Amino acid sequence: PKAPPVAHYNLNNVTITSDPLGNRENILVLTPMARFYQQYWDNLLKLSYPHELITLGFILPKTKEGNAATTELQKQIAKTQKAGPEQTRFKSIIILRQDFEPPIQSQDESERHKIQNQKIRRAAMAKARNSLLFTTLGPDTSWVLWLDADVIETPPSLIQDLAAHNKPVMAPNCFQRFYNTEKKAMDERPYDFNNWQDSPTAAELAKKMGPDDILLEGYAEMATYRALMAYMHKSDGLRQETVPLDGVGGAALLVKADVHRDGAMFPPFSFYHLIETEGFAKMAKRLGWQPFGLPNYKVYHYDE
Ligand code: GDP
Ligand code: MN
Repeated sequence: PKAPPVAHYNLNNVTITSDPLGNRENILVLTPMARFYQQYWDNLLKLSYPHELITLGFILPKTKEGNAATTELQKQIAKTQKAGPEQTRFKSIIILRQDFEPPIQSQDESERHKIQNQKIRRAAMAKARNSLLFTTLGPDTSWVLWLDADVIETPPSLIQDLAAHNKPVMAPNCFQRFYNTEKKAMDERPYDFNNWQDSPTAAELAKKMGPDDILLEGYAEMATYRALMAYMHKSDGLRQETVPLDGVGGAALLVKADVHRDGAMFPPFSFYHLIETEGFAKMAKRLGWQPFGLPNYKVYHYDE
């Protein structure tokens, strides 16, 4: 019998450049998904990066809600990949179901943001992201775009725009559109507080913590005085302005595949008193990859 063929990949031939489109680089879009939002899918379809170079990866929890989201997602995938026009079809799509027990019960925005729920929830999210990453990252992947299932509006050129800066890790600013009852009009507010620059106060807090304790951002009872990218946004600021970051969120995040290949993942435990995406930023930094953010480049989170 013939020996099985061996696939050779020379990682030096997989370029990771500021012009991924010109160099036909493969993008892996990864989404942990607890709920399916049609606006997320519609926005994804509008991405102007060639879909034949995009692989989609999803991980969904094995909960009642996760089952419903899987059904909905599969419906939309069938529509796009089978019935849709050729140029909107993606290169390939992978759906994973979470295998670890117990699945965290689905929580609404107020419940999941309670400080006492954060450590367990963020650890579960970290494991979901790691499972998704380690089962989908391929030898030809140049960039990984993390995009949460409730990010419903981005510029169509998101991938090109973020990659143009040629940074190892790049985070746009995640805002939320909402109806402002005082102004009686639509308005917007910062949403993701995990994109930040460190502060001496946070370092002091960390020093007094036990080895398994984690610092969290956006809680009055744990004032860190970090500089939050959410508040660095200027309405008249340049969209291409960049700032270095020490912590990042995962709502939308472009990462050079080599950062993950070097071993940067989402710690589901206290790593320098940081967890999940914030721990990832720290790990990337320790590996020599400095994360950056774009305070004036906005993407929008769903308003529950
Ligand atoms: P928040 O916006 O920071 O409050 O975080 P979310 O609850 O929106 O979670 C971030 C992303 O992970 C979203 O895309 C969710 O749909 C997804 N998500 C939330 N919980 C789970 C879970 O238990 N398993 C998986 N696979 N995805 C989840
Ligand atoms: Mn969210």
